Amino acid sequence: MQFDIVTIFPGMFASVLDSSILKRAAEKGKLLVKIHNLRDYAEGRHQNTDDTPYGGGAGMVMKVEPIVKCLKAVEKKKKGFKILLTPAGKTFDQAMAKKLAKKKNIILVCGHYEGFDRRVADYVDEEVSIGDYVLTGGEIPAMAIVDAVTRLLPGVLGNAESIKNESFMENLLDYPHYTRPAVFKGKKVPEVLLSGNHALIEAWRKEEALKLTKKIRPDLLKSTAKKEVRKLEGV
Ligand code: SAM
Repeated sequence: MQFDIVTIFPGMFASVLDSSILKRAAEKGKLLVKIHNLRDYAEGRHQNTDDTPYGGGAGMVMKVEPIVKCLKAVEKKKKGFKILLTPAGKTFDQAMAKKLAKKKNIILVCGHYEGFDRRVADYVDEEVSIGDYVLTGGEIPAMAIVDAVTRLLPGVLGNAESIKNESFMENLLDYPHYTRPAVFKGKKVPEVLLSGNHALIEAWRKEEALKLTKKIRPDLLKSTAKKEVRKLEGV
């Protein structure tokens, strides 16, 4: 999988890409991330990538020409699924991460200031937000997407089982995990986890995942068919 990231802050990505799973994915040849400095595509002595808004108002607006020029140069080498990062986009979630993991090339465009000249939207395939809050720039959203998508690629995580059971995979939150010590300040690990009975443990984990989801994220269950919920409840 190749990601091309368009940004005015190329230096922000190194430590994230050079650590942990993403680093290993790159070493295994599963992930290639290319960072493109938008300033290299801007005209003039100052290589401005932003300008004042028509109609007045606060802040600066990311110009359309450098972005279009940069996307053209990136796609001359490799066509990709182009994503504009914006709080006004479709909300990124695990289902979208799964869909994106099926693509071979993804291009992420990071904004800053007040966001993009609206005409930029005509040159991308999707506008995506990572949640209902406003960040300073699109670099952290880009990293979040690269991370969430890469860990779903076959062969990236050591144990494929970890993906199968984790939060959101079946419209459920993850079940609670415990490790040593068996007792911490009087708080005991649930007895069933020490029983060695795998069938009982699996049933307990399903039940706990359902309980947690009902308590913390009941909205997730709304999209799960009633029949499916009854099955999960063992009714
Ligand atoms: N004026 C914009 C608005 O109200 O929607 C906010 C612009 S924000 C300060 C600057 C840039 O950060 C955006 O163009 C986008 O690239 C990025 N950004 C901020 N929050 C984001 C989010 N939740 N998801 C994706 N990108 C985000």
